[in-house]
Amino acid sequence: MLTCLQKYINSDLINKDLSIKTTEILMSSISFKHLNLINPIVRAVTEAGYSKPTEIQYTAIPHILAGKDIMGCVQTGMGKTAAFAMPVMQLLKKNTPDHNEIRTLILTSTRELAVQIEDDFKMYSKYLPLSQLSIFEGVSAGGQLAALRKRVDILIATPGRLLELINQRHIDLSKIEILILDEVDTMLDLELIADVKKILQQVSKKRQTLLFSAILSAEIRAVADTLLQNPVEVSTSPVSPKAQSIPQPVYADKRNMPNVPMEFTLPVATPDFRYKN
Ligand code: AMP
Repeated sequence: MLTCLQKYINSDLINKDLSIKTTEILMSSISFKHLNLINPIVRAVTEAGYSKPTEIQYTAIPHILAGKDIMGCVQTGMGKTAAFAMPVMQLLKKNTPDHNEIRTLILTSTRELAVQIEDDFKMYSKYLPLSQLSIFEGVSAGGQLAALRKRVDILIATPGRLLELINQRHIDLSKIEILILDEVDTMLDLELIADVKKILQQVSKKRQTLLFSAILSAEIRAVADTLLQNPVEVSTSPVSPKAQSIPQPVYADKRNMPNVPMEFTLPVATPDFRYKN
């Protein structure tokens, strides 16, 4: 049954609207190991206190491990950072480069998010020989420059500070293998996209790109179109990871799901039938 589930996770079926609720029922039995994550990562995430992947994790991880570009519509708090951190670390671990340059760049909108992402990477890379660093405005650049002289595999940055250091020729982004744009909707709100575009001129075109946003507006799709190649779209329902970890019956609209047993269905007039106390 698990092999069958794994095939299902890896297939495009997972993103088809009609199969979402069935997917939720099936996925309640999925663990991190079933996502083909390596032991050092599974161990670190288990020690962090997480026993099962969240919806965005089991939806996105197989595609990221397969090297696909991703357009993710997901809100903060759904386990999104781990959804990209774990497979990205696994991909980096697979190859040992013959250079010491930065291999992954994560652009995010605020200092707080940059620090949070760095902390998460630290936690999940506990048993891997990978290093991470965050750089952001609001502090003197001296300490960040000193840290950049050591090996940095994963750089997490706000666009303003990164651009400043690029312009001073302190940072080489030509060896970036994976680029992640986090919370692109907030970047647009804060008018950071012009800086992001300047930064991306320095990043190798031969890369995997993951883009995440809480909403997918026409403007965000336009940004995505210029950056992503044949992306897989992943999205989640707005439910906290805590709620997802508690086994809940999943209720489906009988009109869309004729094969779902009657006990899992509710009248079609119910506006929000996903999780019911
Ligand atoms: P995000 O801001 O989307 O990265 O979500 C972060 C929150 O999700 C943090 O509170 C994490 O502790 C939590 N989280 C991450 N992975 C899991 C998981 N597999 N199960 C439950 N909570 C998780």
